[in-house]
Amino acid sequence: MASPTPVPGVLEIQPYVGGRSAAPGAARVFKLSSNESPLGASPKAVAAFGKAAEKLHAYPEGSSAVLREAVAELYGLNPDRIVCGNGSDELLHLIAQCYCRPGDEVLFSEHGFLVYPIAARAASAIPVTAPETNLTASVDALIARLTPKTRIVFVANPNNPTGTYLSVGEIRRLHAALSPETVLVLDAAYAEYVRRNDYESGIELVATSENVVMTRTLSKVYGLAALRVGWAFCPEGIASVLNRTRGPFNVSIPAQLAGAAALRDTAFTEAAVAHNSKWLAYLAGEIARLGLRVTAGVGNFVLVHFEPAPSKRSAPAADAFLMERGLIVRGVANYGLPDALRISVGTEEANRLLVAALEDFVAQTAS
Ligand SMILES: *Cc1c(COP(=O)(O)O)cnc(C)c1O
Repeated sequence: MASPTPVPGVLEIQPYVGGRSAAPGAARVFKLSSNESPLGASPKAVAAFGKAAEKLHAYPEGSSAVLREAVAELYGLNPDRIVCGNGSDELLHLIAQCYCRPGDEVLFSEHGFLVYPIAARAASAIPVTAPETNLTASVDALIARLTPKTRIVFVANPNNPTGTYLSVGEIRRLHAALSPETVLVLDAAYAEYVRRNDYESGIELVATSENVVMTRTLSKVYGLAALRVGWAFCPEGIASVLNRTRGPFNVSIPAQLAGAAALRDTAFTEAAVAHNSKWLAYLAGEIARLGLRVTAGVGNFVLVHFEPAPSKRSAPAADAFLMERGLIVRGVANYGLPDALRISVGTEEANRLLVAALEDFVAQTAS
């Protein structure tokens, strides 16, 4: 018997594969494969989550008011323009679902986040990629691929897995080239980490346009990946569309309460950002010192470049070597980067072990 036929595009989806979390045989494991926060979540968020256990029988408040209030306070935004999601992934999918007609195009850069082609295909749209320059999205290349069918342009800023970013001027130049019928989605999952004067997460552009959405997550610097909390800042028209189509209770109460507490604990967030800045610089400097090429980026991870297989010093060889020491990192061949590994900033102990392991790997593979 044949299986029922899904809508066009669905069977072309390569399912998303998350970072590994087990290192068989290793005595201790350091997960540096999913850009999670090495400091965990704020104790205040953990306490709020625990308290929520007392009322598990009650449906959530449907608009995520508690969470939207906390976001609005922190950034000075109108809470009516904020739409929350079960992770920002849900919001990326929702945007594609709401704006793509079958055969429309969804544009993003060559090494863009892999959720974008999935969201596009799930909405029966066609993913289109634009080449990058030095592992950085090229606004010129994106503009060159705009067509009357381009319905959405996704830009992860900074991008995962490259860690590179576009300046506010470049984002504005891209926006200026779009038709008013094209939605620009600025996926700012790593915005809190960025310390660059020419970077903006997109709040200003959303506030002054009808076709720009910025998405954010509590999975990274806030350390709440397990809870699935994301939010989008939208123009009124887009917020209204997303609110019609999202699940009526799409963010659970434990997630809303823990998320709001995490957002309000700004001292904890600052400590997490300071930890990241210090150890990102350490990893970039030390890995370069070993003679490996590293793209440090501005997020909470580095991209380390190895030699093409079958060299002894290939990315798969390094991956296996690190895995034996319990250091789990991310292969990014599925991003078109078969010779690189993405490594998240970890605890001090994990970062030092990682550098020591790479040093041994380099020594053992010297020709
Ligand atoms: C981690 C990440 C997200 C966040 O996803 P959640 O569903 O909120 O956990 C979004 N975009 C990019 C580029 C990411 O790397």
